[in-house]
Amino acid sequence: MVKKVAIVGAGPSGVLLAHYLLHRQEKYQIDIFDFRSDPETVPFSKSRTFSIVLSQRGINALRQIEGLEEAVKAVSLETNGAVLHQKNGKTRVFSRKYSQLSLDRTSLVIKLLEQLTIKGGNQVNLHFNHQCTQVDFAAKQVKFKKLDSEAEITVDYDLLIGADGARSVVRESFLKTENFQCKQNYVVNDYKSIFLPPLDPKLGINWQKGKVHSWRLDNGTTVLLVYQTDSSWSGVVLFPHKDKTIPELANKQEVLSYFRHNFPEIGQILPESEAEDFANRPVSRVLTVRCNRYHQGDSVLLIGDAAHGVSPSLGQGCNAALEDATIFNQILDKYSDNLAVAVEQFTLQRQADGIAVVELSDYAFPDSKKLFLELLFRNSLSKYLSPIFPKFFLPSLFELVAEGKLSYSEIFNLYQNWIAKVKKSNSMQPHKKL
Ligand SMILES: Cc1cc2nc3c(=O)[nH]c(=O)nc-3n(C[C@H](O)[C@H](O)[C@H](O)COP(=O)(O)OP(=O)(O)OC[C@H]3O[C@@H](n4cnc5c(N)ncnc54)[C@H](O)[C@@H]3O)c2cc1C
Repeated sequence: MVKKVAIVGAGPSGVLLAHYLLHRQEKYQIDIFDFRSDPETVPFSKSRTFSIVLSQRGINALRQIEGLEEAVKAVSLETNGAVLHQKNGKTRVFSRKYSQLSLDRTSLVIKLLEQLTIKGGNQVNLHFNHQCTQVDFAAKQVKFKKLDSEAEITVDYDLLIGADGARSVVRESFLKTENFQCKQNYVVNDYKSIFLPPLDPKLGINWQKGKVHSWRLDNGTTVLLVYQTDSSWSGVVLFPHKDKTIPELANKQEVLSYFRHNFPEIGQILPESEAEDFANRPVSRVLTVRCNRYHQGDSVLLIGDAAHGVSPSLGQGCNAALEDATIFNQILDKYSDNLAVAVEQFTLQRQADGIAVVELSDYAFPDSKKLFLELLFRNSLSKYLSPIFPKFFLPSLFELVAEGKLSYSEIFNLYQNWIAKVKKSNSMQPHKKL
């Protein structure tokens, strides 16, 4: 009999999982619900999106569904490393063994949805402006408020997927069940998106297109910028939550003078219109999520940020979210679509990785300047010495995470001494003392 799947959240993880379920020989009728409007039809909103980098781990998850990698590549640019811009105007360039894709999160979702609509036929229904409000595990029913009419609907399910992000309502319902533990923390850095125009050749600024560019102040405020398909640059400004300098920039003059003083290269090309928008753009906070299980009973599963929300510092949240879909698909293969076994197996196979990716993302980068220099030094050593003396020098943590051959928990085990060192040092930084 065809099983009814309700997916809450049309983000990267929910939509990719729908693709995988669609490939399982018409076993599933799939309904996807999201409280936002259809991103394919509403005007593109800069305040709701940001650039993400997909490493091999995420690309591999797309590659297994025919046509997805190509569709996503068509709206992406290849990147193969990073450039650290130093205060003295010099740069440090880091190259990666494997290339990555940089693109906008909304563009990724639009491409996944476009392909799903083409392939889904009657087997997939999309419901936008539907906000999940409640789950009744015993009755196997989920409730939604229709945001355009305020009406409430109840949906029956055989399998419920909570792919509704770090503030998941599906996960909230787990709190009423026995032996469920979940720790949520705000990341110490808040962020605002930033959008810059194509570089004017007359200014003599020559940022390499295929790299992620970063600038960092001593207080940890960091600007990350990535080249876009329309020749513009977009990225984020990350800053410690306790430092109110950026949130308090009230108008375009204050924004312009802040950037000209602290990030002169960026201040030089920041247009007045973007300075105005930047002042008005809301500050965003990121929640990290650590859970002791990802399933409930025989029919509910959390995936993506709903299961393991991570700090954006390592650029792995979306990669891990996409990898979840692949792993659940492999489990369905192994257990012949027995859902009760599959959801439990997902916790058993994935929970350690979920915790590991949150830890790695929180503590791969130290706050202290001294440890940060040590990180750069260790990274250079790894690059040159690990291929020659693999027994004595580990490959770079960043390469291991990005290439996706080892699981997050295997990488965590290899790097646990470094993570413990950074954790200890970060807890002693003045801005961490709340
Ligand atoms: C600034 C920034 C930069 C990042 N950079 C990277 C990067 O470079 N690489 C990387 O891999 N990751 C990156 N990430 C992380 C990445 O964006 C997330 O990990 C990824 O989007 C998670 O996908 P998801 O589908 O699990 O959840 P989400 O993308 O959060 O999607 C959840 C969906 O659920 C919907 N929803 C929520 N609640 C409800 C409800 N009650 N009812 C109905 N629908 C609901 C939302 O509207 C949304 O569409 C970054 C994150 C940030 C904030």
